[in-house]
Amino acid sequence: MKTYTATVLGSRQLSAHLATVTLGGLDDYPTTGIPDEYVRVLIPPVGSALALPQIDEAWNISYAEGAVEPDFRVYTISDHRVVDGRVQIDLDIALHDQGVGSDWVRRCRPGDEVGLIEPHGLYAAPSDVAWQLLVADITGLPALARILRGLSPQQKAVVHVVLTDAGDEIALPSPADVDVTWQVVAKETDICETLAEAVTSRDLPDADRYVWLAGEARASRAVRRHLRRELKWPQADFYTCGYWQIEAEKWNARYEEVAEVVQKKSAEVQREVGDDQGAYLDALDDIYESVGL
Ligand SMILES: Cc1cc2nc3c(=O)[nH]c(=O)nc-3n(C[C@H](O)[C@H](O)[C@H](O)COP(=O)(O)OP(=O)(O)OC[C@H]3O[C@@H](n4cnc5c(N)ncnc54)[C@H](O)[C@@H]3O)c2cc1C
Repeated sequence: MKTYTATVLGSRQLSAHLATVTLGGLDDYPTTGIPDEYVRVLIPPVGSALALPQIDEAWNISYAEGAVEPDFRVYTISDHRVVDGRVQIDLDIALHDQGVGSDWVRRCRPGDEVGLIEPHGLYAAPSDVAWQLLVADITGLPALARILRGLSPQQKAVVHVVLTDAGDEIALPSPADVDVTWQVVAKETDICETLAEAVTSRDLPDADRYVWLAGEARASRAVRRHLRRELKWPQADFYTCGYWQIEAEKWNARYEEVAEVVQKKSAEVQREVGDDQGAYLDALDDIYESVGL
């Protein structure tokens, strides 16, 4: 897996809780062209220089002797461009109470270095799909905005965004026919149910359709379950992705307790289902639920 060193070129406030960080200093950095492509950003601890790891294809990570290991955080590439022959990327990052990524955005200055790993995308709607439902909270908003920019005038997109502050509504330009609903909830713990209902309470078309949801992880799983188990949708018609975890500390602590079981069962399932991504994700849901995650 290739790693890159990027330099902070600047940052600016995009909305009440979203800040855009522009990274550059990249002779080359690929794009998948997939509009929700994301990157793992390697953030050195305060006061430490960036140490880049070696990462093999099986995701074994190793560092040089004595290196101070960076933290990894995942963000959408909201824009990828080439300026004077060098690549610049934008990350639109939600500022929440505290967290390695959120704190880094608050303190980063031009010239600071971070590491990047190659990007990867998940949105897989057919390019001519007639109708799509795009649902996000603040963390999915940068990807949603990029998806909308890439649609064509013949397409229809129904958009539902759940926020805790109306000050985070951003412009969502698109050539497509777009209906946007902004829903503001009182507190973060309301996001999960509200996001899920944006899909589960709706009548959905029988064909020529795509649903994409990015946001809180429990909502993502609830919607996935609804589409797969109740409506029997094929995996090709939707993608839901958990971007963050409410009460992550509780979830992480439980994961630590059951990690071995989860990894063993996941590997078994992977062998059983092969390339059937839908079956694999269904089985993962069951595994996580069976251990209380
Ligand atoms: C594919 C993908 C793409 C993503 N794209 C983006 C993006 O473009 N912009 C973006 O902002 N995020 C994005 N995220 C989500 C981001 O990676 C998480 O929010 C991450 O947890 C932030 O790291 P942190 O260090 O700030 O907080 P962490 O150290 O991970 O968590 C610290 C605490 O903050 C809480 N927390 C984490 N995120 C939030 C939040 N958004 N709101 C409220 N509380 C939170 C946790 O529950 C925990 O209690 C993406 C995630 C994925 C998987």
